[in-house]
Amino acid sequence: MNKLDHLIEISRHFGANPDYVIAGGGNTSFKTAETLWVKASGIALADIDEQGFVALSREKLGQMETRAYSPDPLQREEEVKSDLRSAMIGAGGLRPSVETSLHNLIEYPYIVHTHPTLVNAVMCADNAGEEIAERFGSEALYVKYTDPGYTLFKKLQERIAAYHNRHGRDPRIIFLQNHGVFVGAGTTEEVKAVYANIFSRIREGKNLALPDPVAKAYVSPLARDIAGWLAGRNLVSASYTGELIGHFCAGRENFKKISKPFTPDIIVYCKSNYLFLEKGAGSDSIRKALDDFHRVYGCDPKVIVEEGGGLILAEEDESSLRTVLEVFTDMMKISYLSEQFGGPHPMTDEQIRVIDQWEAEHYRRSVARNRGRA
Ligand SMILES: [Zn+2]
Repeated sequence: MNKLDHLIEISRHFGANPDYVIAGGGNTSFKTAETLWVKASGIALADIDEQGFVALSREKLGQMETRAYSPDPLQREEEVKSDLRSAMIGAGGLRPSVETSLHNLIEYPYIVHTHPTLVNAVMCADNAGEEIAERFGSEALYVKYTDPGYTLFKKLQERIAAYHNRHGRDPRIIFLQNHGVFVGAGTTEEVKAVYANIFSRIREGKNLALPDPVAKAYVSPLARDIAGWLAGRNLVSASYTGELIGHFCAGRENFKKISKPFTPDIIVYCKSNYLFLEKGAGSDSIRKALDDFHRVYGCDPKVIVEEGGGLILAEEDESSLRTVLEVFTDMMKISYLSEQFGGPHPMTDEQIRVIDQWEAEHYRRSVARNRGRA
């Protein structure tokens, strides 16, 4: 038996279940006193094998906990990445997950971090803190939204240490507002039991039925008009309707509940602004709306809502288009279910701005790299 067998098994177990993992999100790890094995960035959990993990020196990761990094966030992320690279054991083209330092922080051998729809229905609701306190008491640590990366790492370091002082052990469950959950335990069977317990406690006393989320293709004059316009911009598009989609496309009030992203991941895949077009909008007003959108946000919308119709999604290729549908469907489910926990609580404008800036910078750098200049 190989020491990573259990890690591989649990990674596939959660990775293959869309209730836990969508669009390649989430990551897993196993640690001994000396070494941390963590999922590599860009590898899917569902069919991961030993090659999908990166081994890192825990001594070197530990040194990062006290090192002083640049106050400039982008500069700092570069420094952190470079330290992560030098903590890697053995060569290889893979990069460790950006959440690696968080995995090293929690004392338990097995860590499974996911963004489940049901958990995020609470994490992205107005009463997240109260609901968690009431349902989990001191069994879980609840952490308010913090910018991802080093800022989140520092905050967790402090909160976990404080929890440890009070309880004599690290928390097995760490809920992150507008993000997801970290679960840690000594064995993979315990990790599964903790997750089962989280799901059943969240469901307690709630009606969490959803309208049918299946997306069906639809056509309308407006959708056809927009598809033509998008094709002219070299984008592929598709239009969908269905029960869940129909609920949020019924009118502006319902659209408001999905008009801002709930998590940074949603911004990465769907961007942070979505376009609402009123029923019966004519060609001229559609074109004006699309031009205005481009002028204000500097990009074309990936998600367009036709009032009383459905969703029109746009992307650069078919596979990215499927991801946008998957991620935006999850966003609608989260919004719908969050009504049971006080109503939707999207990211704030300032939190969104930070991620938008990161995304723009990463895009600029990747374009520069592809041109061989950076
Ligand atoms: Zn995450």
